[in-house]
Amino acid sequence: MRDGVSTRGPALYWMSRDQRAADNWALLYAQELALARQCPLAVAFALAPSFLGAPWRHYDFLLAGLQETARALQERHIPFFLLRGDPAATIPAFVRDHGVGALIVDFDPLRIKRAWQASAISQLSVPMYQVDAHNIVPCWVASDKQEIGARTLRPKIRRLLPEFLTPFPPLRVHPIPYPDAPEPVDWDAVRAALDVDRTVGPVAAFPPGAAAARRALRAFVTARLSRYASGRNDPNQEALSGLSPYLHCGQLSAQSVALAVQASDAPQEDKEAFLEELIVRRELADNYCYYNEQYDTLAGFPTWAQETLHAHQRDPRPVVYDRADLEAARTHDALWNAAQLQMVKTGKMHGYMRMYWAKKILEWSPTPEEALATAIALNDRYELDGRDPNGYTGCAWAIGGVHDHAWPSRPIFGKIRYMSEGGARRKFDVDAYIRHVAAL
Ligand SMILES: Cc1cc2nc3c(=O)[nH]c(=O)nc-3n(C[C@H](O)[C@H](O)[C@H](O)COP(=O)(O)OP(=O)(O)OC[C@H]3O[C@@H](n4cnc5c(N)ncnc54)[C@H](O)[C@@H]3O)c2cc1C
Repeated sequence: MRDGVSTRGPALYWMSRDQRAADNWALLYAQELALARQCPLAVAFALAPSFLGAPWRHYDFLLAGLQETARALQERHIPFFLLRGDPAATIPAFVRDHGVGALIVDFDPLRIKRAWQASAISQLSVPMYQVDAHNIVPCWVASDKQEIGARTLRPKIRRLLPEFLTPFPPLRVHPIPYPDAPEPVDWDAVRAALDVDRTVGPVAAFPPGAAAARRALRAFVTARLSRYASGRNDPNQEALSGLSPYLHCGQLSAQSVALAVQASDAPQEDKEAFLEELIVRRELADNYCYYNEQYDTLAGFPTWAQETLHAHQRDPRPVVYDRADLEAARTHDALWNAAQLQMVKTGKMHGYMRMYWAKKILEWSPTPEEALATAIALNDRYELDGRDPNGYTGCAWAIGGVHDHAWPSRPIFGKIRYMSEGGARRKFDVDAYIRHVAAL
C-alpha cells in the first residue's frame, strides 16, 4: 500500500477480516517483517460501535472468536489490543502512541473497510502493507478487472493455484518482547458496553471460534463431503459444510479448508464440486465487490439486467409484501416462509433456498430497488455469515443477473433467471423441509 523505511518501532497487524492466529498470511507477513527488523510485534482489532447494522448475534460470535484468538496470540508472546471506537481514528492514534514502525492490514473489498484503511493511510506516514489473507489467490492477483462470471475467473484462478495453494508455516513464538504489554481485555465489560440490537440473539448451531471451526471442518470432511455433489441442492440432506460463518469472520482460513478437502479420500467429483464453491465462487464474489463499488445497488448490475428490470418495472405484481411481512414470514408461500424462519432461528439458511428466497423477494416487491434493499437487509440481519461479499454478490446474482446470463423473458423478472416452487419440488421433498423448519 505504501512502502518505505520503517523505524525500529513495533510492527502492528491491524486484524480486521481475518480474525485468527493460525494460518493467517497477514499475521505471518507481519511476523516476518518484525523478525527481519528485530522489533516487537502486536495485533490490534478495532471494534466499531456499530457495523452495517450488525445485531448482537454477530457481535457475540465475533467477540468469542477474538477472545480465543487473543489467547492463542498470547501463547506466542504477541500482545493483542482491542481498540474501541471508530477504527479510522483508533488505529492512527494507536500507531502514534506506540511508535509503530510498520502497519500490516488484511484485505476486505467492502466499501466501509476500504474507507477506514484509506483514512488511516492519509493520517499516517509509516509504511503500510496489505495482505489478502482471505482469498487463496489474492484478489488483485487473480484478476485486475471485474470478471463476467465464473467461466472467466476460473481459468485465471486455476493457473495460479499451484503457486498459492500451499501449506502454511506455523506462527512462531515472537522472540522480541513488546515494551508495553496490554492489560488483559475485560471481555465481559466489552460485551456489556455494546449498544447494539439485542433482539437478534446468538444461535446454538454454530459455536464460535477457531477451535470450533476446525472441528466443523473435520466433521464435514469425514462425514459429509462425500455426498456434496449429489446432495448440495437438497436442504433435507446435510451435505453442505456449514463453514460460512467461520469463513466470514476469518476464524477459519479458506486455504486450510481447501488443503483438507484435497487431502481427503472423498470422491473426486465431490471434492471438485466443493472447491468450485469455496474457491471460484467465493473469490468471484470478492472480485465483484472489489471492482464494482456499486455492489449493493442496481447500478452494479450488468446493463442488460438493468434494462430488463426497468422494462418490467410496471408489470403488475400478483402479490406484494412489505419488509415487515417478509421478516415475519407472513407470505402465502410455505416454502419461502420456511426458508425465512430457518434463517431467523438458526442463523443460516440453506444455500439452495437462498436463491429461491431472494428471487421471490423480487417477485413480491413493488420495485427491484426495494427488493434488493430488503434482501440485503434481512440477509445481513439474520445470517451469521451476513455482511459478506458472498451475500452482496448472491443477492445481485438472484435479483440482478450478476455473473448469470439472460433467460427467456417473463413478467416482473424480464430476462432475469426465474425460480419456482415447482422447480424446488422436482429437486427435493419440499414438505419435509417445511416440517423440519417448523420443528426447530
Ligand atoms: C441471495 C443469497 C444470499 C447469500 N448470502 C450469503 C452471505 O451473506 N454470506 C455468505 O457467505 N454466503 C452467502 N451466499 C452464498 C452461499 O449461499 C453461502 O455461502 C452458503 O450457502 C454457505 O453455506 P455453507 O458454508 O454450508 O456452503 P457450502 O456449500 O458448504 O460452501 C462452502 C463455502 O463455499 C463458499 N460458497 C458456497 N456457495 C457460494 C456462492 N454461491 N457464492 C460464493 N461463495 C459460495 C462459501 O464460502 C461457503 O462457506 C448467498 C447466496 C445467495 C443466493
